[in-house]
Amino acid sequence: MFCRNCGFQCDDNTSYCPNCGMRLNSAQPQSAYSDNHRETPQDDAKTLSIAGFVLSFVMPVIGLVLSIIAYNQAKAFATSSRTFAKAGIIISAIAIGLSLLAVILMIALFSNLVTGIIYEYTYISTSMVNLL
Ligand SMILES: [Zn+2]
Repeated sequence: MFCRNCGFQCDDNTSYCPNCGMRLNSAQPQSAYSDNHRETPQDDAKTLSIAGFVLSFVMPVIGLVLSIIAYNQAKAFATSSRTFAKAGIIISAIAIGLSLLAVILMIALFSNLVTGIIYEYTYISTSMVNLL
């Protein structure tokens, strides 16, 4: 084999170049390290996207935040985590919208109820006054 640093023809069994001292088979452990390094964020994105997907049903606000983070992390990888994260964003957005709608409806219903009671109360009292 030839040294990658200086081009000196070295013995296949030596791990260091006798000419310049460069480590000859340094490519292998380095790529193994970067493979490990690449796997970790992908797994993180997967876990995060599933967590965000599940949480979007239970706690939509937290689910939305987690899904957005997972989506940003999973953007680099063409994996199922991206689909999960996207689904989590959509579901939590719908859930947030629905709960906001429910709150608005409840407020509207409650205020209707209050004005209805006031209206009925004044109606009853005026009819009682009329009776007397
Ligand atoms: Zn060399």
